[in-house]
Amino acid sequence: MSLAYPTLNYRARLHHTYSAILTLRIEYARVRMTTSARAESGNFVVDMVCDVCRVEGFEVEKNAQTGDSPSYFVDILASRKKGKKVQRVAFECWEGTSQVEGREVEKFAARLKSLGIQSGIYVSPKGFGGNAEFMARKLGVELWDLAKLKERVENIKAPERHKVPGTLPVARAAASRILAHGLVNGTFLKLSSMPRLEFRPYFFSNFQIDDGRKKLVQGVVVFDGVDGRVCDAALFEGHVEDLPSTGFFVDCLEIESSTGSMPKLPPELEMKNTVTVAPSGVTEDMIRAKTKEIVSGRDEVTVTGVQLLHIPIVTVEMLAAGKSYRKILQAATGKMIWDDTQKCSLCDHKPRAICEVCGGTVCLEHERTCSSCRKHLCTDCVVTKGIVNKIPLCPTCKNA
Ligand SMILES: [Zn+2]
Ligand SMILES: [Zn+2]
Ligand SMILES: [Zn+2]
Repeated sequence: MSLAYPTLNYRARLHHTYSAILTLRIEYARVRMTTSARAESGNFVVDMVCDVCRVEGFEVEKNAQTGDSPSYFVDILASRKKGKKVQRVAFECWEGTSQVEGREVEKFAARLKSLGIQSGIYVSPKGFGGNAEFMARKLGVELWDLAKLKERVENIKAPERHKVPGTLPVARAAASRILAHGLVNGTFLKLSSMPRLEFRPYFFSNFQIDDGRKKLVQGVVVFDGVDGRVCDAALFEGHVEDLPSTGFFVDCLEIESSTGSMPKLPPELEMKNTVTVAPSGVTEDMIRAKTKEIVSGRDEVTVTGVQLLHIPIVTVEMLAAGKSYRKILQAATGKMIWDDTQKCSLCDHKPRAICEVCGGTVCLEHERTCSSCRKHLCTDCVVTKGIVNKIPLCPTCKNA
């Protein structure tokens, strides 16, 4: 009998639940973009349930205090008038990593009873374990798991006219691209927080220049859809001077975007509460005008089409001995847009290692090695022993 199987299945199931929750989060973020979004509480389950309630005509109150005791509260209290009666529903929203057990349901039911609320719904995207379902049936509490939530979010989805344009998937290579670093002791860098994933809007403005009879130049300029900055440009035909090409975004055009449900994320990038969709702050007219400005010196620039794509941008913060580094990755095709670790902390050269005392990056010229423990050091942190031979050591080994 194999013991490996149940573990594997369990992990596969966990991962499945996990990516399903992420998909739902992103789906919900898209819904919020296209509907009148209200102030967020930071808890996506609470926000989502509130929106679900509002669509069904309820007034909602978050962290509602009911009764006399201030310690007695529920996550959400939804109420609506039904004739002369007021219908009240209390929600408990659990967004933790574990499943909700029977005794939690029992406690919730007891609280509802003492508050005099007839209906209660326990919400847990991670699901329910143990005898939770039995307890819920016994005590008249409704349970909403991931499937139930999904169903409800469908109800609050915006009509077709609000459709959000294509979203590019996160490349499978993104995780290794952002965590692997070309430094010999790169593992000395540790993630200081969860990576953040943002689906950011970018406008791809296609232009051409012709002399009236013949097409001379054809190309594209890429703009950040939030602040209108130029991010990239490329030519497919002809020549234009000083085009602001960075190479960071143009190849995104080769990737098929998804219009319906959201793309899957690689499992290595655990980004539970850090997925957002940035709203576009720029109009297509602005982009058309700017394109002509960018492709300067030519009067006959025609913008032939503007395409809006949401591109996944992953930001990670890393720490090495108190020094922090930021990396920003265009995750659709895996282009590093920003990387603090790519410059020596003492000069402008490409670094080779991280100093294990101060956490600074060091190039070949500024790198030293402790002759005792082999730690990588920088020229500022290395100390020496002996007057003639000057043996390089780290401070720890010298004092030992
Ligand atoms: Zn250097
Ligand atoms: Zn150092
Ligand atoms: Zn040492």
